[in-house]
Amino acid sequence: MSIKKSEIRKDYIQEKYVIIAPRRTRRPHDTIIHEPSNKQFDDNCSFCPSKLKSVKFLDKIGSKNNWCLAVLANKYPAVSLDNPKAYGQQEVVVETQDHIRELEDLSVGHLKDLLTIYAERTKVIAKNKKIEYIMIFKNNGGTAGASLQHSHSQIFATSFLPPHLADKSQRQQAYKLKNGTCVYCDVIKKEAKGPRLVWQDKHVIAFAPYASMFNYEIWIMPKRHIDNITQLTEVEKLSWAKILKHSLQKISQLNLPYNYYFHQVIHDEDQHLYMKVAPRGSVWAGVEIGSGLIINPITPEEAAKFYRQGL
Ligand SMILES: [Zn+2]
Ligand SMILES: [Zn+2]
Repeated sequence: MSIKKSEIRKDYIQEKYVIIAPRRTRRPHDTIIHEPSNKQFDDNCSFCPSKLKSVKFLDKIGSKNNWCLAVLANKYPAVSLDNPKAYGQQEVVVETQDHIRELEDLSVGHLKDLLTIYAERTKVIAKNKKIEYIMIFKNNGGTAGASLQHSHSQIFATSFLPPHLADKSQRQQAYKLKNGTCVYCDVIKKEAKGPRLVWQDKHVIAFAPYASMFNYEIWIMPKRHIDNITQLTEVEKLSWAKILKHSLQKISQLNLPYNYYFHQVIHDEDQHLYMKVAPRGSVWAGVEIGSGLIINPITPEEAAKFYRQGL
């Protein structure tokens, strides 16, 4: 089931709109054609093991000389603990010793460990009472903002809560007051039975959101209502790692760069944890920049179908 005519859709809770505009022939700039990533060995890569020998790890999985995941302070942070004008903390998670391998090439167990280390860092960073907001994210590929090729993700924590997230929290609370339930718990129930479902088991669900802003956008969520990553159980992490690996493999078939991210608002237990994966297949042009209305030529129903292949 996919829509044939254009349709304006609104986000589940936020005042964000998208025009889902399926078309047989795409505008020339709708999709960036990407060369398959041709990673080269780089003697100067600062995340390769030889360069990290003398670097202090904030955390790691494995031993100092044989780590599989390592957390370092960000060398060029935009926010820092000694700057009251832009207060916060930034860390880098180096995801493998191997300069060439991508995240989707790593084992499910390795990806589960990655979730564990995200959770550990969130626990540590959240102890600082001044921190209000922790975002974990990954930029993969040049147009998604990655400046270093070696597979890594980042943690960005600050005392400043971005206004659109404060607004989202308020909307979620209003929804809860009115309906007595969490809006995302309701979304999960609905998407579990619909055409945008990609995969689910007892613990985790993955679906293409109704008002996808990005081509092939996919969300991964725990079915249980938990508000941050530290509460994920071992079985939930395992399910999560499985579907994450599959999703990233599919995105790599499209040769698209991508971003993924978790938002964690420290003082809001009403939020429902999610990971948004946003492939960066389109260039936002005049309509998007000028009106803020996003045109997405790939319907989420079609995207879900694509992700279901091979499952
Ligand atoms: Zn490297
Ligand atoms: Zn919920």
